[in-house]
Amino acid sequence: MIDEPSPRAETASDAESAFKILSHDLRLEILLALWDARDYALSFSELRKAVGERDSGSFNYHLEQLQDHFVMKTDRGYELQYPGHRVLDAIQSGVFHEETSVGPVDLEETCRDCGEPLAFEYGADCIARIRCSDCGNRALEWPFDPGGTAGREPEAIVAAFDRRTRLIWACALDGICPFCAGRVERELTSHVHEQGACVGVIEQLERYDEYFARDHPIITSVDCNRCSFYSFVPVGVVLLNDMVVASRLHDAGLDAEATPLWDLGFVVDAAALSIEETDPMRIEVAIPDVDEELAFTVDEELAVTRKSAP
Ligand SMILES: [Zn+2]
Ligand SMILES: [Zn+2]
Repeated sequence: MIDEPSPRAETASDAESAFKILSHDLRLEILLALWDARDYALSFSELRKAVGERDSGSFNYHLEQLQDHFVMKTDRGYELQYPGHRVLDAIQSGVFHEETSVGPVDLEETCRDCGEPLAFEYGADCIARIRCSDCGNRALEWPFDPGGTAGREPEAIVAAFDRRTRLIWACALDGICPFCAGRVERELTSHVHEQGACVGVIEQLERYDEYFARDHPIITSVDCNRCSFYSFVPVGVVLLNDMVVASRLHDAGLDAEATPLWDLGFVVDAAALSIEETDPMRIEVAIPDVDEELAFTVDEELAVTRKSAP
């Protein structure tokens, strides 16, 4: 019996040939020159001049390799196409070639464990970390592209990290991959034992040990069907996607949009979460950030309802 190639293997060979097209310096230079050009388009001679290639045969050959996908010949000349833009965007994110570090930057927000100030730090592993400089409490950690540090003052880098992480989480929790637009499976999962059995799958995942919110009794796992994106998002973040919750929190005196993620108790406090039921899964998320007693319920479908007072 001959094994059918898996869809992932087919994708790999298609992607490999697409990447091979980009494997020559001159081809990347062509994309860069078109990016610099007005309207992302240049004539044959302008483009050849821009990349400084004397050998017209060689230039022609490399331009042909890019044509019809990365570059299209139009009445404005050779024009950069969407895939060409995406190649340049990936390069500009800096993840392939930049090693940037930032901080520690002292923050106004304080550690929920010990009350000392939190600090932001960004390292060559492309992970931004919000930690307590005193007790070591890891408030929040998430990847951030080096591009996010360019041309920004430290405070603006911290703010950009907060905004971008929210967008990525909102998109993933909505079932759409923030990286490839593929379908994301979302699941409430736990390492808590109920009557001797593990409620979720987390225990089998070694990576979870390194996760900043590993002390949470329950977590949302997000897994893209198409690309390598796979992660965990604190359950409280589900509340941030709900307009009704946002307006209720606002009435209670909390602007959840303006408060950094690491300062939202319902996002980062393990104690804000309790498992009400496991089959089907129902989670209570308390809001320790407001003066009144307020809680919401998150169900298996990640639908949020206001928890009525007992
Ligand atoms: Zn601390
Ligand atoms: Zn994806």
